[in-house]
Amino acid sequence: MDEFKELFNLAEERAILIDKNNDMEDVLDKVKESGILGLIIPKEYNGLGGGYYDACRVSEELALRCSGVAHSIVIHNMAVDAIRLFGNEEQKERYFPKLLKGFGCLAITEAKGGSDVANAVSMRAEKVGNSYILNGHKVMITNGTFGEIFIVVARTGEGARGLTTFIVEKQEGIEVHKINPSGMRGSGLSNITFKDVEVGKEDILLSEGRGLRVALGTLAPNRVPFSAMGLGIAERCLNLAIERAKSRKAFGGVLSDLQAVQFMIAEIAAEVEVLKRAIYSFAKEMDDTNYAGAVCKLKAAEVAKKAADIAVEIYGGYGLIEGTAVEIAYRDAKVLDIAEGASEIMKLLIARKIFS
Ligand SMILES: Cc1cc2nc3c(=O)[nH]c(=O)nc-3n(C[C@H](O)[C@H](O)[C@H](O)COP(=O)(O)OP(=O)(O)OC[C@H]3O[C@@H](n4cnc5c(N)ncnc54)[C@H](O)[C@@H]3O)c2cc1C
Repeated sequence: MDEFKELFNLAEERAILIDKNNDMEDVLDKVKESGILGLIIPKEYNGLGGGYYDACRVSEELALRCSGVAHSIVIHNMAVDAIRLFGNEEQKERYFPKLLKGFGCLAITEAKGGSDVANAVSMRAEKVGNSYILNGHKVMITNGTFGEIFIVVARTGEGARGLTTFIVEKQEGIEVHKINPSGMRGSGLSNITFKDVEVGKEDILLSEGRGLRVALGTLAPNRVPFSAMGLGIAERCLNLAIERAKSRKAFGGVLSDLQAVQFMIAEIAAEVEVLKRAIYSFAKEMDDTNYAGAVCKLKAAEVAKKAADIAVEIYGGYGLIEGTAVEIAYRDAKVLDIAEGASEIMKLLIARKIFS
């Protein structure tokens, strides 16, 4: 991870400003020059050839410092992975060089719903000759403001088999409207309108009608690196809580002299340890990506939220002051519960494995 040290330092230095302004524009150049965008692009396409384990390491290290930058990289890697897993040779040759230099986005969610993708997607892709014309709206798309390559799920027919996933380059007809999330701020979250955007049939991933397979097949394994963000946030909270407990004077000593405070910290430390081992074990070996992603994401959200809650508790009133490090972590942690699949959907995937 030494090669990304400068980026990690910059993310740490700017974290509070990125949260305050919901903007990481001044970190984008460093991200691009660091080479991190090529982390999971195979070596034969001039990437670093990393896998999910490396993606987890980067995700954890960045989230320890700044969740906005971490989220942006996690989603970029999802766009890369959609092509790595489902793209053909021509698509890899055409788009990996672009994704080495520019950000990717994954545009699935629409206003009608993000959980029930099969029914909620209404964005149309009309076939005209050898092309498709895209019209519709996507909501809550990470990296939207600065993304250059969009992996877009659109409707080419009816029902779950009527979805198709396209690789779409930034072009006229794509209008991006930045929005203001409460946590993981700075990652360019946007609502996006596609108006008469033309895409060639060669830009379909896998094949027409198999868009749901591409979307779900990309999300599943990438929920493990997404969960490593929860790990990073929990570790950030643990460090903050320990630091505060050791330095805050009370009752003739410091907070960490009190067993009640020690126990709160011990509890987070144990949960972080177990989460870390689970995430890296799944990252090395995933027999069932749906199950691995769901288990990690469900637990990562719980641990990150609990760690943030305890850190705020130990900070007392200061933990509830807008823009303090623990207050930011508290908002960041909640995002783990919703983005890239709600916790209830993770339970549904786990239950499906148990009962099917
Ligand atoms: C910060 C952020 C970044 C995001 N980035 C992206 C992105 O890059 N690309 C993208 O496509 N989307 C993105 N999203 C959207 C995200 O994936 C959706 O918000 C998420 O999938 C939930 O969809 P929804 O918000 O429409 O909630 P709904 O689908 O309306 O669900 C609302 C709630 O209902 C419950 N629920 C739903 N279905 C079930 C069920 N079957 N059983 C039990 N309970 C259920 C859950 O509690 C769920 O949270 C992002 C969201 C956020 C907040």
